[in-house]
Amino acid sequence: MHNAALAAAGLGDWHYQHLPIPPERFAETVLALPRFGFAGINVTIPHKQAALALAGRATARAAAIGAANTLSFAPDGTITADNTDAPGLLAALDEPLAGRSALVLGAGGSARAAVWALLDAGAGPVLVWNRTPQRARVLTAELGGEAVVRPVAADVVVNCTSVGLAPASFKELPLPADLLGKSAIVVDLVYRPGGTALLHEAQRRGCRTVSGLEILVRQGALSFEAWTGLEAPLAVMRAAVAEARPGDPAEAGLDGHRTRSPNTGAGGVI
Ligand code: NAP
Repeated sequence: MHNAALAAAGLGDWHYQHLPIPPERFAETVLALPRFGFAGINVTIPHKQAALALAGRATARAAAIGAANTLSFAPDGTITADNTDAPGLLAALDEPLAGRSALVLGAGGSARAAVWALLDAGAGPVLVWNRTPQRARVLTAELGGEAVVRPVAADVVVNCTSVGLAPASFKELPLPADLLGKSAIVVDLVYRPGGTALLHEAQRRGCRTVSGLEILVRQGALSFEAWTGLEAPLAVMRAAVAEARPGDPAEAGLDGHRTRSPNTGAGGVI
C-alpha cells in the first residue's frame, strides 16, 4: 500500500519495508534507523506503547491514548510519535458523530484509539464491553466512556476485538444479530479480503458498514502525509490493499517500515 502510494506520488526512490523487531531490541533498533535513511516507521503489536515511550515528542492524541503507531524522524534527530488509528477511524466513518451513542467491543490497543476518537468527535454515551471486564473498567477510567457488562444497542458499533479473523462467524462475541440490526453503523477493525462475518450480517440488516481495510488505508494515509508532506493517494492505496494476498506483511499485521534511499539526498542506506 505504501510503496504504491510512494510511486504514485513520484517518490519512487522511497521504499516502505517490513522489519520485524523483537521487543528487547526495539529501542536500540529504532534509534539507529534515522542513520540508515529511515524517515519514519509504523509500529504494531507489541510495540505501540514502547514507541510512545521512546519518542521525544508526542501528539496530544498519542499521549492521551497511551500508544503510537507512527514515528516520524526529523533531520535534527527529534522523534515524534503519533497515533493515526484514531483519526483513521474517524476518516473512515466520515459522518458526524456528535450526540450519537457508540458501543466499542474490546479493550486492547485499538479499542483505546477508538474510544478516544469517538469521544473526541462528540459521540456519547461511549460504552465499552470487553471479554475481560476489568480491562474495560481500566480503559474507561483512563479515557472516559462507560464500561458495560454486556453489549447493548448503540447507533455506532465498533468491533475492536480480534474476533473475526476466522472467516466463519462472530459467535464468540455476545452480540445478538437483532441487537446489531438496531445500529446505524457497524465498524469492524478486523480486516479480511471480502469482509468479515460481522459486517456481512450488519449489511443484511441494513446497517451502513465500515471495513477494517478502509481504516487500514486511512491510518496509513495519515502516516504517509506525516512522512512526505504530500496528500496521500487514497484510491491507489485502496487498490493496493484490495490486491494484497493473505500472508502479505500487512495482512499478517506485521510491522512496516519505510526508508529513503541515499539518492533522495536524505542520506543513509539500508
Ligand atoms: P489487542 O490489544 O491484542 O486486543 C485484543 C482484544 O480482543 C481484547 O479486548 C481481547 O479481550 C479481545 N479478544 C480476543 N479474543 C477474543 C475472544 N475470543 N472473544 C472476545 N474478545 C476477544 O489487539 P488490538 O491491537 O486492539 O487489535 C484488535 C483487532 O483490530 C486485531 O484484529 C487487529 O488486527 C485489528 N486492527 C485493525 C486496524 C486497522 O487499521 N483496520 C488497526 C488496529 C487493529 P481480552 O481483554 O479479554 O483478552
